[in-house]
Amino acid sequence: LTERLQSALSGLRRKGKVSESDLRDTMREIRMALLEADVNFGVVKDFVRDVREKAAGEKVLEGLNPAQQIVKIVNDELTKMMGEQDVPLNQSPKIPTVIMMVGLQGAGKTTTAGKLALKLKNEKNARPLMIAADIYRPAAIDQLETLGQQIDVPVFSMGTDADPREIVRQGLIRANEIKADYVFIDAAGRLQIDEALMQELADIKDIAEPNEILLVVDAMTGQNATETAEGFNNRLGITGVVLTKLDGDTRGGAALSIRAVTQKPIKFVGQGEKMTDLDTFYPDRMASRILGMGDLLTLIERAQKDVDEEKAAAQAEKMRQNTFDFNDFIDQMEQVSNMGGIESIMKMLPGMANNPQVAAMQAQMDPKQIDHIKAIVMSMTPQEREQPEIINPSRRRRLAAGAGRPIVEVNRMLKQFNEMKTMMSKAMNGNTAQMEQMMGA
Ligand code: GDP
Ligand code: MG
Repeated sequence: LTERLQSALSGLRRKGKVSESDLRDTMREIRMALLEADVNFGVVKDFVRDVREKAAGEKVLEGLNPAQQIVKIVNDELTKMMGEQDVPLNQSPKIPTVIMMVGLQGAGKTTTAGKLALKLKNEKNARPLMIAADIYRPAAIDQLETLGQQIDVPVFSMGTDADPREIVRQGLIRANEIKADYVFIDAAGRLQIDEALMQELADIKDIAEPNEILLVVDAMTGQNATETAEGFNNRLGITGVVLTKLDGDTRGGAALSIRAVTQKPIKFVGQGEKMTDLDTFYPDRMASRILGMGDLLTLIERAQKDVDEEKAAAQAEKMRQNTFDFNDFIDQMEQVSNMGGIESIMKMLPGMANNPQVAAMQAQMDPKQIDHIKAIVMSMTPQEREQPEIINPSRRRRLAAGAGRPIVEVNRMLKQFNEMKTMMSKAMNGNTAQMEQMMGA
């Protein structure tokens, strides 16, 4: 972390919005961090531009200063861009599921095929077969056979004189004979993409009709990863990515580049040479690794959490005194959606799960409804938010118009608010501990 960013980040907490100068300084540092992590230059450019737009004028959350706020936005966006977590292997409706490993020489195709075969064996009691279709790399077939013995998975090979297409054809026949449910095709790589290799892989794809074409990329390749990923994806239409050698000291910028150019999920990461060193891909962990700001992110999270806790305690007190108003309500709805929705919170409350009133409220509170409710509350004057009881029929009409919702909905919402308030106050006075726990206090 550079000194400049550190000093920007330790700046005073300031309320308000992210300004142009906050953005200029912090985004410059972010850009450096991404380039240092070996994220592709073009990808960095696009990413920085998008985040800049998103962050400009954002409200600085309580407990954070503007620079921290920007880092938080960057981290969230990075995590989002990195795609879904825990994407499983594609499955064929009938056996075998065929998985083709592609990538440059030394990327880790053979090793990863072994790791995946072992994982499937252990987790699903699967019966995999591995096909040795790399006839070019010295000792590639021996390597696969040794691996196969080590993890007790059969390997089909025809030596180095047969054509890889024929090897795959015969290998698939063998798979059917032995009723293998997964077939790994350990295809050839090259030091660089060339047409002969691509043609061979395209032919194998036609023959084997794989359910999964996994592009294996060495995370240490840095800038070149983009070109490699684009090359393989354009020609073969990869279905997923495995990033290897993340046990090294690379920051893993390749993950972001590959994802950005292919839009294909990163399914697994390799974290060592042993057959068990294969892990699920976690977008959030990868984002903070790429940013290289792990400590800072923890700090930001903690600062946020402290504020949330203070707020929650204050709200709990207000509920107890039955002075809970619409400002609290909005705060709370935000927290609720952060915590995984009203349903998950209600489940934490003993006796509440079966309460018909709660059930009715829950039914009303789908995400769209929450947006509508927010729109209505946003249309209230500060005084109305603090003293909901002053909201008379003419005010209700104004709120309906302001929020673009029918008046019956405003009425229903106010009624629910009052019911909830009463219920919460009752619950608070009976069930303080659980309620505070529910509120995260
Ligand atoms: P291939 O040419 O694509 O088949 O690559 P290999 O599977 O033969 O792997 C090349 C080298 O990288 C071997 O020495 C592997 O042990 C090593 N390797 C593969 N994956 C990983 C990994 O996740 N971490 C580490 N440290 N080494 C790996
Ligand atoms: Mg190999």
